[in-house]
Amino acid sequence: MTFDDLNLAPAIVQAVREHGYETPTPIQAEAIPAVLAGRDLLGGAQTGTGKTAAFTLPLLHRLSEGERAKNRFGGVAIRALVLTPTRELAAQVEESVRTYGKHLTLTSAVVFGGVGMNPQINAMKRGVDVLVATPGRLLDLQQQGFLDLSGVQILVLDEADRMLDMGFIHDVKKILALVPKEKQSLLFSATFSDEIRDLASALLKDPQHIQV
Ligand code: AMP
Repeated sequence: MTFDDLNLAPAIVQAVREHGYETPTPIQAEAIPAVLAGRDLLGGAQTGTGKTAAFTLPLLHRLSEGERAKNRFGGVAIRALVLTPTRELAAQVEESVRTYGKHLTLTSAVVFGGVGMNPQINAMKRGVDVLVATPGRLLDLQQQGFLDLSGVQILVLDEADRMLDMGFIHDVKKILALVPKEKQSLLFSATFSDEIRDLASALLKDPQHIQV
């Protein structure tokens, strides 16, 4: 199988090829068709399996086929939200969004704690198509009135087990209450505790299960 066989937009396949990937990894081969079909996903995957591209590529495809909307500040509505446990992972995921989306006109931003808030506030007002964030800083921005998540169509929880291990469960639940109920949700986790299973069953509708 090659990336040509996955029905991704040519602009995305080209970016993937320029990045040097020839063949989809197993999780990409399984996840990409499911996400393109609009399915929710429960992915059991460690880092190193190619899971970032597994959700980023079809997410970009779906956004590129859809229409932009406005946020309540008059900027671009966030249509895809990716939550990660750490700022390093958040930065890495947003870099992937930029890399694979370089031939598309979609915009992205990353927000995490430990750095100044003003640039992030400005980015939230302008709005982006794809936001990658750690839960704590995202909620700070929300509590200060700078965040509008009412246009989210795709939600990704990446490394959900680490997110819970780091004590983010309450933050994650608050964020889930800020996004529309009607959306596509993807949850990735390396391990599956009862807490992860509860979160998954609260969030995911008839998910496709993938284990790599
Ligand atoms: P991840 O599991 O998303 O952190 O990706 C692990 C590593 O695999 C990263 O360095 C990616 O650049 C690389 N990678 C992801 N997908 C592919 C692919 N289809 N072919 C070759 N390398 C890949």
